[in-house]
Amino acid sequence: MMAELRFDDRVAIVTGAGGGLGRQHALTLAARGCKVVVNDLGGSAHGDGKSSSAADKVVDEIRAMGGEAVANYDSVENGESIVQTALDSFGTVDIVVNNAGILRDVSFAKMSKQDWDLVLKVHLEGSMSVTHAAWPIMREKGYGRIIMTTSAAGLYGNFGQANYCAAKLGLAGLANCLAEEGRSKNIHVNTIAPIAASRLTETIMPPNLLENLKPEAVSPLVAWLCHEKCEETKGIFEVGAGFISKLRWERSQGNSFPLGKAFSVDDVARRWGKITDFTDAEHPSNVNESFSPILDNINNPSLGG
Ligand code: NAD
Repeated sequence: MMAELRFDDRVAIVTGAGGGLGRQHALTLAARGCKVVVNDLGGSAHGDGKSSSAADKVVDEIRAMGGEAVANYDSVENGESIVQTALDSFGTVDIVVNNAGILRDVSFAKMSKQDWDLVLKVHLEGSMSVTHAAWPIMREKGYGRIIMTTSAAGLYGNFGQANYCAAKLGLAGLANCLAEEGRSKNIHVNTIAPIAASRLTETIMPPNLLENLKPEAVSPLVAWLCHEKCEETKGIFEVGAGFISKLRWERSQGNSFPLGKAFSVDDVARRWGKITDFTDAEHPSNVNESFSPILDNINNPSLGG
C-alpha cells in the first residue's frame, strides 16, 4: 500500500486563507504535517476594508487539530512581509499557494480604471509579489512548489469580467514563464482553475449547485501539486466537484504559403478552412515547438501552397 503523502518539515504560505478555497488548502496541508502561514487581509469580496479575524480563525482551527500555523494580515501586494512571517516563524518557505482574490464584476463599457487596477493588483501583482519574495529562497535551497490560481473565466473569457479575465490569464502566463525559470532548481509551478462554493460564487450560482461544489474537492489537487513526489510543472488543471483534468494548447496543422512568393488577403481567405481545421492538431508546449513549423517553412521555401 502507498504510504500517506506527508508534508512534515515543509513550510507553506497560503494567501487568502481566511476563507473559501484558501482556508481548505491551508487545513489540508496542515493536516498532513505542513507548517502554514495563513495569510488574509480580511476585507470584503470587492476588496474593501481589512480585519485580522479571518486569518486568526483558520490558525485556531489548525492549532485545534494539532497542526502548526501562524497568521499574517498583509495584503498580497506586500509579498516581502508575508514571506518574512514564514522566515520568522518557521525559518524557510517551501510552498506558495497564490489564492487570494477579489471580484469587481462590471461590463467593460462601465468599468472604471479603479475596478481594473484593484483586481489586477490583488490577483496578478499580488501573486507576483509573494512569489518574487519566496523565489530566491527556493532557488537557494533547490526546492519549491508554487500554485497560481486562475479561473475558467480567464481561460475562456466571460461577460462582465474584463479585469478578472485579464488578471487570471496573466497568472497562467506568469506560471508558464516561472516553470521554465524554475525547472533547473526543482521549483515547480502549476496553475489551477477551480470551481467551488465560496462568497465569490454564492451570489451567482443556485444553492443546489453550490451544495455540490465543496472546496474540499479542490484542495487534494493543490496538495498533490505541492508535494515533493509530484514531478508536474507548467500544468494547468480544471478542478471542481470531484472532476480534475489537465489543459493544453492545441494548434491546427495550419497552412504554409511558399516563402519568397507573395500571398494576399485573398489567399488567406482561400485557405481559411485549412488554417482553422483542427484535424491532426499539434500540442506545442514551449516556444521551440511553437517556432518549429515557421522554421520548416524557412528551410523549405518551395513547399506549401
Ligand atoms: P473567497 O472570497 O472565499 O476567498 C478569497 C480570500 O482572499 C478572502 O478570504 C479574502 O479576504 C482574501 N483576500 C482578498 N484580497 C486579499 C489581499 N489583497 N491580500 C490577502 N488576502 C486577500 O473566494 P474563493 O472563491 O475561495 O477564491 C479563492 C481563489 O480562487 C481566488 O483567486 C478566486 O479568483 C479563485 N477562483 C475561485 C472560483 C470559485 O468557484 N470559488 C472560481 C475560479 C477562481
